[in-house]
Amino acid sequence: MISVEEAKQIIDGKIWMKDLESIDLEHSSGRIIAQDVTASFPSPRFDNSAMDGYAVKANDILRASKDDPIILKNIGVSSAGKPFEHSLGIGECIQCMTGARIPIGADTIIMVEDSSGFNDDEYVSIYSSSSKGKHIRRIGEEIKTNDILIEKGANITASEIGVCASFGYDKVIVSERPTIGIFGTGNELVDPGSDLKEGQVYNSNLPVFIDLVQKAGANISMKDVIKDDKGSLHTFLNDALSNCDIIISSGGVSMGRYDHVRDVMIDLGVEQHFWRVAQKPGKPLFFGTKENTLVFGLPGNPVSSYIGFIEWVWPVIRKMMGENKSPYLNGVLEEPFQREKAKYRYLFGKAWIEDNKLLCKPSGKMGSHMLTSSLDSNCILSSGPGPGTLRPGDSIQVNMLPWGKLR
Ligand code: AMP
Ligand code: MG
Repeated sequence: MISVEEAKQIIDGKIWMKDLESIDLEHSSGRIIAQDVTASFPSPRFDNSAMDGYAVKANDILRASKDDPIILKNIGVSSAGKPFEHSLGIGECIQCMTGARIPIGADTIIMVEDSSGFNDDEYVSIYSSSSKGKHIRRIGEEIKTNDILIEKGANITASEIGVCASFGYDKVIVSERPTIGIFGTGNELVDPGSDLKEGQVYNSNLPVFIDLVQKAGANISMKDVIKDDKGSLHTFLNDALSNCDIIISSGGVSMGRYDHVRDVMIDLGVEQHFWRVAQKPGKPLFFGTKENTLVFGLPGNPVSSYIGFIEWVWPVIRKMMGENKSPYLNGVLEEPFQREKAKYRYLFGKAWIEDNKLLCKPSGKMGSHMLTSSLDSNCILSSGPGPGTLRPGDSIQVNMLPWGKLR
């Protein structure tokens, strides 16, 4: 049996990066940016108006007020996409819409509300003075040419999509999606939707894996539920080893008489790196490789396999896709956390913010078969081994579920 830290190091040493591909921006949500995205022009691209109003010279309207307006000559319109071509002289003004280029010679914008309004009259009354530069968005005030807009490793969300689009990119470079094979094992498993006979249980791990793989952004290329017999396991795994970057199984890796997954993997030439980790839940955890394929044998108990996926498999998928951030936060316990003397302990938990602190507590139900403990959870809490119980006020590691919200 090895420690969680050792096991993570072994896995880290086996992770490899998928090739890069260029994909359409509109289909890039959830992927990871593989190269820094830089600005090929400044933003704003040119001085433009932040308001609908009049472009004027501040010196022309120094003493303008509602009671004593300054009259300026109205010489044209600058609108977004259609700049005014001529420059502004003393005593003149130009109607200038939001986003429109500031005409040459103008140094401030007067809001239309502070004028006699937009019309085609030859003269306009200005009711207020202004300082130079007011309501003007300056070229490059947000971003300079060649600035890095988005760093390599960023998760693509609406923000990244918006920024890429606003700088003219319709494609983005990301790592390819890893190809995943998932399977559950057990003679007792029945698909939801069918009737249960005595002693049977519904297969819940595979539906959980399907959702998690899709959420992580990988491709499921094979999925199945397999009986506990060596022949069926052999057939599925043989295929999966030649088609998948990562194979993930649930069940059949502990000490039971019908736990054949590990034997079959080894028969098929998978090199075992470890198969028991000092953790609860999920002590039987197989990790092996064959050529480029990484193989995870997670335990069958629904909580163990769910937590095992999030803690062990999710980060591997995301790293292969280019993510480089640690998911762990530090939280403060609100309720006791029963840690283990000699094992890492994981529990579904609930985290929330109060008084600027990340508070958390374990889920009420603790058994590794009690999947309902995940329902009201937004995180997994974990503690390394040690004596005694962690008390309220102690700090603890928090792994927010990728979709978990702090409320
Ligand atoms: P195993 O690791 O195969 O010994 O399975 C441990 C426990 O998890 C047993 O009670 C199994 O019935 C249950 N189990 C295994 N696979 C699944 C699955 N896909 N869905 C729900 N429960 C499962
Ligand atoms: Mg089993």
